[in-house]
Amino acid sequence: MSAEIPTQFTGHAAMEPQDEHKFDLKEHAYTPRKFDDDDIIIKIECCGICGTDIHVITCGWEKHDRFPAIVGHEIVGRVVKAGPRSGHKVGDRVGYGAECGSCRECSNCTQGLENYCLKGNRGTYQGKTNDAVQPFTQGGYADYYQASGHFAVPIPDELESATAAPMLCAGVTVYSPLKRWGAGPGKKVGVVGIGGLGHLGVQFSAALGADTYAISHSDSKKDDVAKLGAVGFIASADQDAALAQHRNTFDILLVTTYQEDLPLVEFYLPLLRIGGNIVIVGLPNSGLPKVPARPLFGKSLSGSLIGSPAEMRDMLKLAVDKGVTTWVETRPMKDANQALDDFAAGKARYRYVLVNED
Ligand SMILES: [Zn+2]
Ligand SMILES: [Zn+2]
Repeated sequence: MSAEIPTQFTGHAAMEPQDEHKFDLKEHAYTPRKFDDDDIIIKIECCGICGTDIHVITCGWEKHDRFPAIVGHEIVGRVVKAGPRSGHKVGDRVGYGAECGSCRECSNCTQGLENYCLKGNRGTYQGKTNDAVQPFTQGGYADYYQASGHFAVPIPDELESATAAPMLCAGVTVYSPLKRWGAGPGKKVGVVGIGGLGHLGVQFSAALGADTYAISHSDSKKDDVAKLGAVGFIASADQDAALAQHRNTFDILLVTTYQEDLPLVEFYLPLLRIGGNIVIVGLPNSGLPKVPARPLFGKSLSGSLIGSPAEMRDMLKLAVDKGVTTWVETRPMKDANQALDDFAAGKARYRYVLVNED
C-alpha cells in the first residue's frame, strides 16, 4: 500500500488510428494532470474491453487526432492516494465506468443524472481536461488511473474485480434503461443482441423480475441465454415466426446491437404492446432508420446513455443479491493487442478483461 506512486503513469496506447484487424498498441508513459482535492489515484487491477474502445482507436465514429490514446473504461483498482474531498480512502477497492467528470451544478447533475450533464460529461478517456500537460483523459489499459472520486463506485466484497469491471460500462448501460422504464414482475422484456451488453441485459432484466426473452440473429447462443435467465429465445432471422407468436406483447425492447438498418418498422415496433418502449443503447455509425409516424402510435422509441454513479451502486447491489455475473475471459494486460484482435473478430463470450499481473 505504501509503494510509491510514480510521477508518470504507463499504459498501452494507440499512437495513431488503428487497423481493426491488427491492433498495434505501444507502451506509453504520460504525466497525469494536477491532483485535486476531490481526486483519487487507483492502482489498476483490471480493465474490461468495450466496443467503444475499438470505435475510438480506429476512428470508427469520427476522425480525431487525440493520440496517443490509452482507452479502457471498465476499470477496477485499489485507491493509493485519496484527496480530502474525494469520499474515498487509501486501500478501498473502487471502479470507474465510462464517465469520470461532469459540471456537478446543472439541473441534471444535481438530480443525480451526471451521465446527462448539460455541459457534457467527461469521458474516462478522451475526455477534455483543463490541463495543459494532459489536455484529455487517458484510460484504464494502464497501471494507474486518476480522476474525481465522485465518479468512482465502491466494489462490493462479494464481487470479483474481473467480473465487476465490465458491469461499470456494459452493465450500467443496460441496467439504467431497464430500471428507468420499469422492467420488473409482470413485464415482458426482450433483449436484442447477445454480446457484452446483451448477456448482462438478460441477467439484469431477469434479476429485476421481468419475463425476459433473448432476441438474436444466431441460434448459436440459444443454450447460453437459458443459463443467463431468459425464459425464451427468439430468432430475429425468422421475423414472420416471431411476429406470429409475440406481436403486440412486449413492454420493453432493449436494443444492444450496432446493427445498421435496424428493422424497427417491420419488426421491432410491431412486437411492442401499446404503451411499450423500444430503447436503443447501441450506436450504429449511420444512426437510426427513418420511422414514419403510424407504427409509433401508442408506443415509444427512446435512447439511453451509460448510467449515473448512483445507478452503478444500485446495479452492483442487485448483482450481489441476485448473483448476476459477467461471463469473462481474462487476459494479461500486456497482451492487449491480441485481446483487441479477438474482440474485433467477435470471439468474446462475452467480455475480455485485461489484468495487471502483479
Ligand atoms: Zn464502454
Ligand atoms: Zn452538469
